[in-house]
Amino acid sequence: MQHQRPRENADAPGGDGKSSPISRYVRITCGSGIQHLPNQLRLGIAHPIAGRRNAYIAPVAMPAVLSRMFSFAPQFERLRIRPGFDCGFPLCKLTDEQLGWLYRYTGSHYDFGCATVIDICPDMSVISCFPLSAFHRRSLFEFNSLEEIHAYYGELHRRIRIEMGGIYEECDNCRFREEHLCAGGCLAHSLNTFRTEHPVRMEEVYF
Ligand code: SF4
Repeated sequence: MQHQRPRENADAPGGDGKSSPISRYVRITCGSGIQHLPNQLRLGIAHPIAGRRNAYIAPVAMPAVLSRMFSFAPQFERLRIRPGFDCGFPLCKLTDEQLGWLYRYTGSHYDFGCATVIDICPDMSVISCFPLSAFHRRSLFEFNSLEEIHAYYGELHRRIRIEMGGIYEECDNCRFREEHLCAGGCLAHSLNTFRTEHPVRMEEVYF
């Protein structure tokens, strides 16, 4: 990865420095009147919404997406913006060079997890993150505490991981997963797979 670029290329890729997503982010944020530009940019992957039809990044496309993302490293550095990761990034698809750049540039710990992020919707239904919004949607009034909600969805997620370790076949026996360094990508991929095969798995993973 190249860290020093000639000034005229500093905003590349994108050439003139006006058309890249990073530059647009800076212009939009500054243009909105925010005085202190946040120096953290949280990057998320478009996940499938289980049981629905939507555009998302397929597991096989992850290396290309990451390569494109890291092509903006010089811009991140020039604009002093630190990238952060939302959940579902697959650790094994980052190269050592990419991981090294992240560590050197941000000094941060990166989480390649997939957590039970509890959302309470306006109609008082509870979901465990947006891509799983159709999966075991329950009423808030069925629970006595947030701990109960976390325990309920945590157990469901654990069962899905028993049936399918992650978004790649290798996830099933992956030592990164065993050592809790990577969760194996977004669960919604697994849920969609379950719906397209014979129903031979434990009952709770269906919806
Ligand atoms: S758990 Fe799956 S996605 Fe994560 S590093 Fe292992 S093989 Fe890759």
